[in-house]
Amino acid sequence: MEDATVLDFEFEAHPNPVSAEVLAETLANPGFGKALTDHMVVIRYSDEKGWHRPTVEPHAPILINPACAVLHYAQEIFEGLKAYRLPDGGAALFRPEANARRFNDSAERMAMPKMPEELFLASLEEMVKADQGWIPEIEGGSLYLRPFMFASETFLGVKPASEFTYMVIASPAGAYFKGAESVTLWASEHYTRAAPGGTGAAKCGGNYAASLVAQAEAIREGCHQVVFLDAAERRWVEELGGMNVMFVFEDGSIQTPPLGGTILPGITRDSLLTLARDAGITVREERYGIDQWKADAESGKLREAFACGTAAVVTSIGKVRGRDFEFTIGNQGPGLVAQKLKSDLVAIQRGRAPDPHGWVKRLF
Ligand SMILES: *Cc1c(COP(=O)(O)O)cnc(C)c1O
Repeated sequence: MEDATVLDFEFEAHPNPVSAEVLAETLANPGFGKALTDHMVVIRYSDEKGWHRPTVEPHAPILINPACAVLHYAQEIFEGLKAYRLPDGGAALFRPEANARRFNDSAERMAMPKMPEELFLASLEEMVKADQGWIPEIEGGSLYLRPFMFASETFLGVKPASEFTYMVIASPAGAYFKGAESVTLWASEHYTRAAPGGTGAAKCGGNYAASLVAQAEAIREGCHQVVFLDAAERRWVEELGGMNVMFVFEDGSIQTPPLGGTILPGITRDSLLTLARDAGITVREERYGIDQWKADAESGKLREAFACGTAAVVTSIGKVRGRDFEFTIGNQGPGLVAQKLKSDLVAIQRGRAPDPHGWVKRLF
């Protein structure tokens, strides 16, 4: 077993990288998740060899056997974080150690091998170094990194696999909800996202697979996103399909559902709660019922609600609809507290404001 914490990455340049013209065009209007960069990181794992043979290769399709375990039993986890261009031309990641820890927490839940944190961080650094020319310079632009791991063993038996493949791919990113000032949520009555004891706190593809039918229902109902209620009582607000949720009250306090195994522990969530506490705002991590949400929105006690996550950072919630109700929040526009927290966070992420918590990790 090699058991290295950091291995030497072998680099193979793309023989046919995207042309300067196409790159410039892509970076001027990157959208989200459409364009993929020239390279990708691959690291292999087997029970015998441990983590081995890390490479940076041309981004290309990979060949897997139809009996590859992930295709059948969905043993797969992922992360999502962004590389930012710093004012001096360098580049940085935001709290990548937190992604490394969460990746390993997800791995543990899904009976997958943990990856040494240093190796995870090195893989991100290699990826950004290889494709730093893909960081969009537009306002709000970043290079979205997608590390992921899947069971790559060829075997149809149901058991934790003994071979895994870890990869990092990257995609230039602009704004996530294009043009939306605030979003309308669909409160799903029928579908839930995660149950106690389940995989709600793990960032695994399966959670997303299970959320898509509810998301499709939301779109059919004319909403942007689905908001999930708890699986036991169908009462407590949990989170969106891929974002955490926060509430701002008339007394200025902020509330968000507590982590407890059914909610994904967002790094944006944690960062915003920290910034809010730093600003002297009262923060509660307490359950909030959908009925209370409606009552508080109607009485004006609730001033704002917003969703948060790496992809969209902060997105205000203007309206919530369900099978037999609909309510609006504030003036349905971007909330003041949401905007302030967002701009404070973004300023730190982009190296434009002091970083008292040491969150920004410069790569070069
Ligand atoms: C990734 C994710 C989030 C947000 O996490 P961040 O670390 O802030 O990006 C929230 N909910 C779900 C379900 C997620 O998968």
